[in-house]
Amino acid sequence: MIIVGLTGGIGSGKSTVSDYLKRKGCLIIDADEISRAATAPGGPALEPILREFGAGVFSEDGTLDRKKMSEIVFSDTISRNKLEDIVVTIVINEFHAQIEHLKEEDYKGIVVFDAPLLFEFGMEKYVDESWFVTASLESRVSRVVKRDRMTRGEVMDRINSQMPSWEKEKLADYTINNSFDLKWLYDQIDSLLYRLKSKEGI
Ligand code: ATP
Repeated sequence: MIIVGLTGGIGSGKSTVSDYLKRKGCLIIDADEISRAATAPGGPALEPILREFGAGVFSEDGTLDRKKMSEIVFSDTISRNKLEDIVVTIVINEFHAQIEHLKEEDYKGIVVFDAPLLFEFGMEKYVDESWFVTASLESRVSRVVKRDRMTRGEVMDRINSQMPSWEKEKLADYTINNSFDLKWLYDQIDSLLYRLKSKEGI
């Protein structure tokens, strides 16, 4: 088994790459999916959130009041860090649990850990190699404007609040350039997969 950490900033095309890798037979562990489930009803993040933030961030039916929670973390960095710590700890534990399970099953293929905050939380140490998806600023902005109906200014604010691309590019083992068409993108992924499979004898 080989574990690839996949990351990329907003609008870079990380989900497009992840979908393609899934179609090519890779097993995907999706950090966003784990973190969404963690705060969903019955999720493992609810108890630590209650302990840290109190009952005020919960609705009467016991579900997390996401609006209240976002208001708190938006205006206060310490609260934001606390919430991130709770959720990231759960994501990392779940990732390890899934990897352990795959090892027990003697899984021999490629596992992709799809994690937007791979480098921000030092999670690259858990993977065998990291792939960073990037694209020109113009491609990222215009794709997100089209996809999410956000203004160019809103997209730029999001991009500027993330770790800069040059920094992630330095940390990554491989950079995938998604500034052009999908064929260009898929060719790069095919080469990376070919290299990985030859190296690992998969
Ligand atoms: P986010 O982190 O914001 O969710 P992402 O990095 O996962 O974004 P995607 O959702 O994969 O990015 O791509 C953003 C948008 O751009 C999507 O609508 C996707 O279909 C489109 N897109 C991705 N790559 C290309 C490409 N090479 N050419 C044209 N459109 C693309």
